[in-house]
Amino acid sequence: MAHVDRQTWDVVVVGAGGAGLRAAIEAREAGMRTAVICKSLFGKAHTVMAEGGIAASMGNANENDNWQVHFRDTMRGGKFLNQWRMAELHAREAPDRVWELETWGALFDRTADGRISQRNFGGHEYPRLAHVGDRTGLELIRTLQQKIVSLQQEDERDSGSYDAGLKVFQECTVTRVLKKDGRVSGVFCYQRESGRFFVLEAPAVVLATGGIGKSFKVTSNSWEYTGDGHALALLAGAPLINMEFVQFHPTGMVWPPSVKGILVTESVRGDGGVLRNSDGNRFMFDYIPDVFKEKYAQTEAEGDRWYEDPDNNRRPPELLPRDEVARAINAEVKAGRGSPHGGVFLDVSTRMPAEVIKRRLPSMHHQFKELADVDITAEPMEVGPTCHYVMGGVEVDPDSAAATGVPGLFAAGEVAGGMHGSNRLGGNSLSDLLVFGRRAGLYAAEYVAALRDRPAADPRDIDAAEAEALRPFSAEGGGQHADRGPAENPYTLHQELQQSMNDLVGIIRREGEMAEALERLAELRVRARRAGVEGHRQYNPGWHLAIDLRNMLLVSECVARAALEREESRGGHTRDDHPDMDRRWRNVNLVCELADTRADSGEADPALGQIRLSRRETPPIRRDLLELFDKDELVKYLTDEELSR
Ligand code: FAD
Repeated sequence: MAHVDRQTWDVVVVGAGGAGLRAAIEAREAGMRTAVICKSLFGKAHTVMAEGGIAASMGNANENDNWQVHFRDTMRGGKFLNQWRMAELHAREAPDRVWELETWGALFDRTADGRISQRNFGGHEYPRLAHVGDRTGLELIRTLQQKIVSLQQEDERDSGSYDAGLKVFQECTVTRVLKKDGRVSGVFCYQRESGRFFVLEAPAVVLATGGIGKSFKVTSNSWEYTGDGHALALLAGAPLINMEFVQFHPTGMVWPPSVKGILVTESVRGDGGVLRNSDGNRFMFDYIPDVFKEKYAQTEAEGDRWYEDPDNNRRPPELLPRDEVARAINAEVKAGRGSPHGGVFLDVSTRMPAEVIKRRLPSMHHQFKELADVDITAEPMEVGPTCHYVMGGVEVDPDSAAATGVPGLFAAGEVAGGMHGSNRLGGNSLSDLLVFGRRAGLYAAEYVAALRDRPAADPRDIDAAEAEALRPFSAEGGGQHADRGPAENPYTLHQELQQSMNDLVGIIRREGEMAEALERLAELRVRARRAGVEGHRQYNPGWHLAIDLRNMLLVSECVARAALEREESRGGHTRDDHPDMDRRWRNVNLVCELADTRADSGEADPALGQIRLSRRETPPIRRDLLELFDKDELVKYLTDEELSR
């Protein structure tokens, strides 16, 4: 066995975004020696990019708001496929998590009378998003980091070492969760800069690795969203659910090509921005689906009045849930009513004075000026859908965030599935990170405290993980075996994967195209076995990408297989050949598991699918929660059996 450094911790948190940091704080406060490991620099997690705000029913902007209304909105947004217990916990606990952030030093924007200001967002009945301009994620991460530093200062006072109870390993990537006798024993990692391998042994691992957007060509996500946590869970034997539900945010930049996909925050619409097509029509009024008809304004005048008088008017349809707006934009462009660069127009310039735009949307103003030379205080933006968020993820116990079937494995944040059902409402991710990040840290600590003995990492698994990581440098990867074909460039493979997912499993899906996507994925899997890199292990991005490809191919197959299986349209899954929502699918989760345990050892035939798909009925929604809805509304969603029950 090659020598690999090993360190022992109680809890390892993989990911230093909002979910990971909140989990780490909780585990450390419960007395656990906690390691946090992240691919990028500490502080540069995806969470930092969050713009619009954190959804929590504090009732500051409208006192009618409460957790029940938030729960209702979340279930409606997810088209009732949400893991209802998660949606309940989330709605109940989000306000406490926001207050807590404030006690840790977060500085939110204020109302005129000094309370935390809350803004409107799509699908939320009342203004609910606590925010800091359009840079809320930055403040959230800054506050959590500050809390971590203060805990480290405490540790230094008590033990003489800042890292004694809570240590951050930045720019390090986890490639395997290690197990012994079915239980988690640690993680295998490499340092991105030096290429050195090391193992963090721990009986509990919290996955908080975020999403999968880099499998798609047009995305708002940054380089580190390669579905690592999803793949790590699968490879460790934990199932994923809801993977067919990928959110295409309606408003990403469409021009210039180099910035295509970068997010244009929903706050623009929340603060009054309107969508128009090339004929100048506010087309969203033509796209209000039946299930939402009673809740949205039918005329522009009513929609406009709502901003001033929300109690006596209905909201404008620009604030429908994201899946509805994205589909509408797609349809307008397809019908030839798009903007010059293939999007539609989003306008705030005619809706608010320039100084208000600059104050409320400073990042958007800067982003468009710098990247597209567009002054949003004077002219409309051009926007179109961009792959933004994955609703699917690791199947977890709703209360404890424990992954199904793998003792010691936990998951929180975007990598976990269930909470958002088929479509996430804006603002519900930051609150999700805090609510379930805390729970994951708490229950991971409880799990460790209750253990009688700790599983040790098996040296054979460490060797196997090392061999797997080094494969792109090997003779096979390097192309010296002529019978196995020439080496493949990981960048080419990545581009082809992104193009396939974009074209064939994107915003509008068809059976034949998804079947073709699965064929292309099979071919890419074979070629990815020959992904070869040159040079050495010191900072070698090509090598890192070759490793990440395994993860992107796994999660892409999950998305494609589940999307092909679900023969209806719901939330973030739109089938051209099955355009309606079908109540019979309401209580069906599609579960993805690793098909062949030999794939675990890298021995499976990569041309065969790696994912086994099965259907699982979701637990019935608790009666008191159902009673929060009108019966007329439930009839639109629930199956006949559920209604008769
Ligand atoms: P992240 O914050 O992405 O953190 C993931 C961490 O995992 C990172 O530290 C990464 O380095 C690490 N990691 C990944 N793989 C590995 C590995 N193999 N080994 C080690 N570390 C690894 N949501 C809202 O609620 N409100 C908003 O206003 C909002 N605005 C958004 C704006 C943009 C532009 C984007 C892209 C998203 C926005 N979202 C918003 C969504 C929200 O930001 C994300 O869903 C959320 O931040 C995810 O947090 P997380 O903690 O799960 O993961």
